[in-house]
Amino acid sequence: METLLEVNHLVTEFRTAEGNVQAVRDVSFSIAKGETLCIVGESGCGKSITSLSVIGLLPSNGKIASGEVKYEGKPIHDLPYEELRKMRGTKISMIFQEPMTALNPVLTVGYQLREPLILHHKISKNEATKQGIELLKQVGIPYPEKRMNQYPHELSGGMRQRVMIAIALACHPGLLIADEPTTALDVTIQAQILDLINDLKEKLNMGVMMITHDMGVVAEVADRVMVMYAGKKVEEGSVQEIFDHPKHPYTIGLLNSVPNIDDPDFELEPIPGSLPSLQENIQGCRFHPRCKFAMDKCRELTPPEFKTDEGHVVSCWLHEEVEEVKHGHLVAQI
Ligand code: SF4
Ligand code: MG
Repeated sequence: METLLEVNHLVTEFRTAEGNVQAVRDVSFSIAKGETLCIVGESGCGKSITSLSVIGLLPSNGKIASGEVKYEGKPIHDLPYEELRKMRGTKISMIFQEPMTALNPVLTVGYQLREPLILHHKISKNEATKQGIELLKQVGIPYPEKRMNQYPHELSGGMRQRVMIAIALACHPGLLIADEPTTALDVTIQAQILDLINDLKEKLNMGVMMITHDMGVVAEVADRVMVMYAGKKVEEGSVQEIFDHPKHPYTIGLLNSVPNIDDPDFELEPIPGSLPSLQENIQGCRFHPRCKFAMDKCRELTPPEFKTDEGHVVSCWLHEEVEEVKHGHLVAQI
């Protein structure tokens, strides 16, 4: 598969009253055309900051301190603001958890759909209206002509999310970034939106970067999965590998902390403790204060990224011993 996005050794820093803190710590990954990479982890692990670094929308106190971001082989992390702005929508688009914050409440759906089309394609208002209606049809919105004249508050949450996807797709981006796009929706609508994203990805051969804390969403849409913990990538692999052979204790913890309705013997086992703050300097493996397998070595030395033959990447000293998860229970040889 053709590589679309490449992120190499990304370090993203924030200026705070207590000095500079690293929210993303040396993270590398890639996304191919027609592929969905899910970035998972608890809130505050750096997954949203990773996506904002890619699209150049970091808050003013944040910056890419080192590393590179390449789109179709071309570095984009140091592009001037104006050039990055042109890429947004046409090359990379983003949708957010709460469409109400991204949609303008005082402008009609039609206006918000036409605007990027007129701006980027230099087409007439009539032509943009036609294309806008087509886009609404494409994302499964009934009575699209009528919707064009409505305001966001006149639509349901699911419909608003579809409108946001339609706007994101207006200029045929190669990469769609979706940050928790279904968290605010009820489960039926959630499933419909995820299906829609899957369909569009296949039809348009888009790359998709899906940010989520929900392993259910991962199972639904991911081709590959990257697990982040406290600013670091701790594990990456195909969705089958991650679900069937998770190797990092944190990933195993994530999988064990969601109910498995297919398994009557399943026991829910939340991960003890909480995510450290960004400021916290933790020596060795950043997960060690919460890891039930932590050894002296883990407290002293940061585990590197170990790669397996199956294309699985894992940062854990015990990657070879953490052998299998059976019925939700970790079987480790220690
Ligand atoms: Fe746990 Fe050690 Fe592996 Fe870190 S390196 S996840 S502390 S076993
Ligand atoms: Mg977030």
